[in-house]
Amino acid sequence: MATGATPRFGLQAHQVFWNEQGSIVCACCHIPYPGSDTWIWERWEEITPADMAEIDRQGGRVACEGCGKEPSRIVRLDPSERNKR
Ligand SMILES: [Zn+2]
Repeated sequence: MATGATPRFGLQAHQVFWNEQGSIVCACCHIPYPGSDTWIWERWEEITPADMAEIDRQGGRVACEGCGKEPSRIVRLDPSERNKR
């Protein structure tokens, strides 16, 4: 558990977001205010658990650029699943 990491803007700690540049940040880091100009301009959206699972299945890695936290609580794939090729 990270200490001192508080989700911003009333978001949930497990939420992770990305924008069209592929930047990934968790709710505790430099996420723009939802609905703000920056949010809309950079096309921020939440990475859904389904997206997360798909990224993981393709061998991708999702980690916050700000704190490096990997939202493992969202990725629910069993490690044994991951090794099936
Ligand atoms: Zn973070």
